[in-house]
Amino acid sequence: MTFTLPKLPFDKKELEPYMSENTLNFHYGKHHQTYVDNLNKLIENTPFAQMSLEEIIQKTAGKAEYTGIFNNAAQVWNHSFFWQCLNAKGGKPQGEMLSRIEKDFGSYEKFHEEFKNAALTQFGSGWAWLVEKDGKLAVMKTANADTPIAHNLKAFLTVDVWEHAYYLDYQNKRADFVETFLTKLAYYQK
Ligand code: MN
Repeated sequence: MTFTLPKLPFDKKELEPYMSENTLNFHYGKHHQTYVDNLNKLIENTPFAQMSLEEIIQKTAGKAEYTGIFNNAAQVWNHSFFWQCLNAKGGKPQGEMLSRIEKDFGSYEKFHEEFKNAALTQFGSGWAWLVEKDGKLAVMKTANADTPIAHNLKAFLTVDVWEHAYYLDYQNKRADFVETFLTKLAYYQK
């Protein structure tokens, strides 16, 4: 199939001042679009053209000959998921997700600290995640394009810590970006 850039679940100005329209113009309009375009070019006239994005990721993960397809497919998935995890009214979760976090991490504060630490200690480019592992919530970080989909894990939240995600709004201050994400923008998925 030919993949297309998914629609953003918010207006580009809606997340200001925490994430600017300028950042989204580049991050969504250029970076994400480029991953979509590259993936379409790479899978054209191959068996991958008949597969879903998740299937492509799972069939190419860890295979040196398919690094280019994996990187672009995983980045398409990761970004599409990241946009779902952003909301102008986001922040600390409520209801069932808050209860699960309190049960599996001890407290929301403990989870916040662990997630932030994963995001800050991801050396270079990558992602921090809240996932379900063996029936329990867990924090993980992935490098470059790597994604929970490649590890058969369900994700509930992610933050992109590639510099392109925050440099225009926060310059080198990744910690400020991650703290703002967790307190103002984070929108937990079911
Ligand atoms: Mn990105």
